[in-house]
Amino acid sequence: MSSYDDVTCKPFLLVTCYRNPLSGYNGYMQTNAPSVEEREPELGAGLLVDFLNTLDLDEGTDLLDDQAAFDTWCDERAVSAGDRAEARSVRDALRSFLDGESPSLPSLELETTCGDRGVALRARTAAEAAVASSVVLSIQGSMGRVRLCAAEDCRWAFYDRSKNGSRTWCSMGVCGNRQKARTYRAKPPAED
Ligand SMILES: [Zn+2]
Repeated sequence: MSSYDDVTCKPFLLVTCYRNPLSGYNGYMQTNAPSVEEREPELGAGLLVDFLNTLDLDEGTDLLDDQAAFDTWCDERAVSAGDRAEARSVRDALRSFLDGESPSLPSLELETTCGDRGVALRARTAAEAAVASSVVLSIQGSMGRVRLCAAEDCRWAFYDRSKNGSRTWCSMGVCGNRQKARTYRAKPPAED
């Protein structure tokens, strides 16, 4: 798939997720932790947001610069690292999509599988899992709730769980307050 339009145009309406992607962690880690090959990633907002946040503008770090750190990240989410350059282009394309642009996504082959709960996308690599999560969220009509913090020096990704879906900041306590303080300072002094 090469663009967001392709994603939305494909007949994915029968696709379901393995688990409710909006529910929290539901414990696929078991005591006898199976290998990555036997586990299925938990597709959905959590995985997508974490993937987008492998780039941390505030700290000036990119987890994808570090293969070992990325391997650990992937292992924790039951995906394989795949090609790091591909992961980076998927991430950067998804981030720019969230910025309102229409980037091309690298062409990925997403497998499908039939399970107890319907037909599902099967993602093996981090890049595939991020794209599959985006597809699932798009079908559910909730991709618009995945946002980047409005603060230019932050851009931390988050999933807006607010009732009215109007959250702008990663954290009202940090970026929201910083912006309020800036707005306040920018106002001319009140006349006495
Ligand atoms: Zn922020």
